[in-house]
Amino acid sequence: MTEPENTLKGHLHPLTIMIDRICVIMTEMGFDVVDGPEIETEFYNFDALNVPKDHPSRDMQDTFWIKPRPQDTERLLLRTHTSPVQIRTMEKWAKGEYENDMLAIIVPGKAFRNEATDATHEAQFHQVEGLLIGKDISLAHLKGVLRHLFTELFGRDIEIRLRASFFPFTEPSAEIDMQCFKCGGVGCGVCKQSGWIEVMGSGMVHPNVLENCGVDSSIYQGFAFGGGIDRLAMLKWGIDDIRLFYSGDLRVVNQF
Ligand SMILES: [Zn+2]
Repeated sequence: MTEPENTLKGHLHPLTIMIDRICVIMTEMGFDVVDGPEIETEFYNFDALNVPKDHPSRDMQDTFWIKPRPQDTERLLLRTHTSPVQIRTMEKWAKGEYENDMLAIIVPGKAFRNEATDATHEAQFHQVEGLLIGKDISLAHLKGVLRHLFTELFGRDIEIRLRASFFPFTEPSAEIDMQCFKCGGVGCGVCKQSGWIEVMGSGMVHPNVLENCGVDSSIYQGFAFGGGIDRLAMLKWGIDDIRLFYSGDLRVVNQF
């Protein structure tokens, strides 16, 4: 059937393009794409991830808590990160619901933070989470996987740098910097002349987190990483305000 000449065709939103691209690159490396609920329990969002009871991220200022109903047995919230999906999937894997002796997943999805919005912060944003659990897994595997991901994503050979950091759910923890895709590390406006761009948090999954999911930490270990999809899309396409992704402004989205 031929279409009338003046038919306007729909197209993908830049964030969808970014998510699809990440999923393709990661599935080519053997990762499964998994998703999970956006309304979570306190257990999956915080407790199982080794976040202390008095951690400030549980505060009303940072988390959207759901008004309790009489039938709720646990406090509910809008997930503050995609990490609860790690927990849900590791639980299933530990129970033998996956045949594979190795668990490799990628989790793209929405996350929510109760904070003021500005050019780099939105109350709703997109994260991508990666998890690989197996035997003899090390930070070297993490580095190799991320190097491939960013190289494919930005279309040039990109080095990765790990900087020591702290997260409750990983030990050791590291911030991931990627070599600037624009200048190749020489220094430019995008990387603020440093040659590097901070893109993700990562680390080796904390033994407490493995045990919380029923995974024997004396046999298995693994890495996890997580970062903002919005930020990656902003970098890739030179968009300087995250709010443009959610404003519905056709002058922006029609460029994709
Ligand atoms: Zn640069």
